[in-house]
Amino acid sequence: MSDDTLFDKILRKEIPAEVVYEDDHVLAFNDINPQAPVHVLVVPKARFRNVTELKDGDAETVGHFMIGVSHVAAELGLSERGFRVVFNTGPDALQTVEYIHAHILGGRGMEWPPG
Ligand code: AMP
Repeated sequence: MSDDTLFDKILRKEIPAEVVYEDDHVLAFNDINPQAPVHVLVVPKARFRNVTELKDGDAETVGHFMIGVSHVAAELGLSERGFRVVFNTGPDALQTVEYIHAHILGGRGMEWPPG
């Protein structure tokens, strides 16, 4: 399958990952190259290449995805101090895996603007 990315394989459990949370809608696992003390990737089980593929009819699916992000942050103990959620989308944003994913970054103070 031409669209078979690394995250498709992690979702199918063909490639191991350090899973921190899973429910019917999302899988969350530690980023292999962490950029903060906590750096987790949240991947919806419904497949999209990135944010540009989301359509009006996907509202319920995307809602479950974002609620999953909130659950993961709570599980990681980040809800009170806060955290950053990043969706790298396309070449200017240096998206490297063509399967939509949210980066949750936390455990330290962040800077703005980002690089
Ligand atoms: P992006 O650049 O937004 O597409 O993010 C892809 C992320 O996947 C990067 O932060 C990588 O460090 C991360 N990554 C690549 N391979 C793996 C892996 N096998 N397990 C966990 N995270 C990975």
